[in-house]
Amino acid sequence: AHLDRIAEVDDALNAFLATDAEASLAAARDIDARRAVGESLGELAGVPLAIKDVLVTTDMPATSGSKILEGYRSPFDATAVARARAAGLVSIGKTNMDEFAMGSSTENSAYGPTLNPWKLGNVPGGSGGGSAAAVSAFEAPLALGSDTGGSIRQPAALTGSVGVKPTYGGVSRYGAIALASSLDQIGPCARTVLDTALLHDVIAGHDAHDSTSLDFSWPSMARAARDGSDPATLRGLRVGVVKQLMIDGVQPGVQVRFEQALELLTAQGAELVEIDAPHFEYAVAAYYLILPAEASSNLAKYDSVRFGLRVAPQGGGTVESVMSETRAAGFGAEVKRRIILGTYALSAGYYDAYYGSAQQVRTLIQRDFAAAFERVDVIASPTAPTTAWALGAHSGDPMRDYLNDATTIPANLAGIPGISLPIGTASEDGLPVGLQLMAPAFEDARLYRAGSAIE
Ligand code: GLN
Repeated sequence: AHLDRIAEVDDALNAFLATDAEASLAAARDIDARRAVGESLGELAGVPLAIKDVLVTTDMPATSGSKILEGYRSPFDATAVARARAAGLVSIGKTNMDEFAMGSSTENSAYGPTLNPWKLGNVPGGSGGGSAAAVSAFEAPLALGSDTGGSIRQPAALTGSVGVKPTYGGVSRYGAIALASSLDQIGPCARTVLDTALLHDVIAGHDAHDSTSLDFSWPSMARAARDGSDPATLRGLRVGVVKQLMIDGVQPGVQVRFEQALELLTAQGAELVEIDAPHFEYAVAAYYLILPAEASSNLAKYDSVRFGLRVAPQGGGTVESVMSETRAAGFGAEVKRRIILGTYALSAGYYDAYYGSAQQVRTLIQRDFAAAFERVDVIASPTAPTTAWALGAHSGDPMRDYLNDATTIPANLAGIPGISLPIGTASEDGLPVGLQLMAPAFEDARLYRAGSAIE
């Protein structure tokens, strides 16, 4: 049914970069056969899974939305994918994304934009717009994404889906094509809090292949989501509202839905607490130094020798000219912009002033969170200040994309978990609005419990 749905709608949506119907059906039949002989399989066995193209798999290409990796195939599966397969999930295809996960609209993909199923003239958010659109359009019930500055949560919000950025280190990054290694986190996207939790349980846990992977015994997120169906869950929950996250430029219809969500929370017995987090106003600035710095280093490996594309100048050329022509042809404008920003921020003489100060700001933001979580259990904000915008509306003005991330970036800088869940549509455009909840590191289950109570 999902393959039929993809055949029906994906020419218009462009959520998928690769599918292999035969292989998906073969994997599904294999699950049926194992079930028929009485093998006990997990709750998600046989359920189709869409995979953001940032994750490598052996059965399909992995491009990370870039021309430079066109046709690249990995010799191994990313750990999150391997765990999903071991749980019996059936890969249904690779989803579109902004090139190397840089962006907030999926318009930076080298393979054309993904459109928002709610309104085809609008973006689905990004960078994981393909995964969110696939889930929202019923092309897949579950999807994997990566969240470096909001790329699971923001597209979930803009497509009326649920998206979770787990605690940093909670899900292995092995086999995730790196953007900014200290911020990247793999996580689930689905249409309900419980579905998201079920996928989270499958992919989480220690992995020796990722040096930042946490060796921690995670409680069941699905159990937490199921507990949340008891209305008493919200009684006494202390919910922080950060002054600095109620930023200028929040769309009126988003603000209305957010305030209604807060009213619902208090009606159920939650307590609202205003939080002052003075350093949050510098989060976007710090992020857009740290991310380009780490990205410029991570992307140095696309050198025309080891992966993907190679452009050989006519008449041969030197190693340097092949490298530079390949990178000139293979990377898009946003990737080049960030490589230039990053190498500048890391260069001798500027390192302390830019990269060093950004890291100090990052520590101050972590302290703001620590102080806040002494007073509250979760922090609430709109996931994104706006609903989905028209295709092309931000083109030529990357700052508008960057500012759209102001609400999601702080969680990445602090390594804490965040969830986005749908809270209705904005009155001015009828497009979905997301509520973001954040919790202290390791408290992912708290988000599922509260999230499913609100849902
Ligand atoms: N929009 C953010 C950026 O462009 C988020 C990216 C992400 O989470 N991968 O960096």
